[in-house]
Amino acid sequence: MTDELKISRELIDKLADSRKIVFFTGSGVSAESGIPTFRGDDGLWKRFSAQELANFDSFMRNPDLVWEWYQYRRRIIHDSHPNAGHHAIVNFEKYFDVTVVTQNVDNLHQRAGSSRVLELHGNITRNKCIQCGEFYSGEIHLEDNTPPHCGCGGLIRPDVVWFGENLPEGVYEQAEERCESCDVMFVIGTSGVVYPAALLPSAALSSGAIVIDVNIDEGDHHHGKRYFIKGRSGEVLPLLFEHVKRLKEY
Ligand SMILES: [Zn+2]
Repeated sequence: MTDELKISRELIDKLADSRKIVFFTGSGVSAESGIPTFRGDDGLWKRFSAQELANFDSFMRNPDLVWEWYQYRRRIIHDSHPNAGHHAIVNFEKYFDVTVVTQNVDNLHQRAGSSRVLELHGNITRNKCIQCGEFYSGEIHLEDNTPPHCGCGGLIRPDVVWFGENLPEGVYEQAEERCESCDVMFVIGTSGVVYPAALLPSAALSSGAIVIDVNIDEGDHHHGKRYFIKGRSGEVLPLLFEHVKRLKEY
C-alpha cells in the first residue's frame, strides 16, 4: 500500500464488507479526461462566461451563439475518453451494487460502461425540443453551428440543466434514495458546494453510510466524520479496487 495515498487498512476492510456503493462525481473527474469545466479560471469562450451562455434567456436571445458553444464543447467531449477513474467505477460493479450520481454532463460514465448513472445536470450529448419536450440523441452533426428545429416547429436545445433551472424531474429524489440506502459513498472531484447536490453526502452520513472524499486538493474537506483521500480519482480508485479485489478473492 502506498503511503502517499494514506488509505487505511480499516477503510479497505469496511469497503470490502459493504454492499451498496454510490459514486458521486463532479468536474474533477472530467478534468482528468481533459475536459474543461468552463467555470472560474477554466474559462471563457469568445469572451463569454458559462453564466452568460448557459441560461434559457441567452438561448432565446441568441440561439446560434449558445448552440455554437455547446457544439464546441461537444467536439471536445467527443474527442475525449473515459479515464482510469471512470473505468475503476465500472470494475466495482463486479462485487458491489453500484450507483453513479454525477454532476457531469459529458456522458463519460456511460461510455466507460457504468450501468446505473443518475445525471443531476442532464447530458450534453442529448437534446430536447423547447416546445414539445421530444428528446433527440445522436442525430445532430457536431459541425452544425445553428440549432435545428423539431418537427413541431420548436427550437432544439441541449438537454442540460441551465442556471436558474430545476434538476431533471425525479432524478434528485432517486439519487437521495440511493445515498440514504448505501453503505459507502464516494464524493469525487467535486467541491460539494453546489446545492442541492451538496446535501447528498450529508444524507448518506445521517443514514449511517461511510463517506469518502477523493480530491486533489484538501479544500474544505474537513467534514469531521468523513474520510478524505488526497489524489486523482484515476489513481485512487484503481488502487482501491485492487485492494478490494484481493480481499474478495482471498
Ligand atoms: Zn417539438
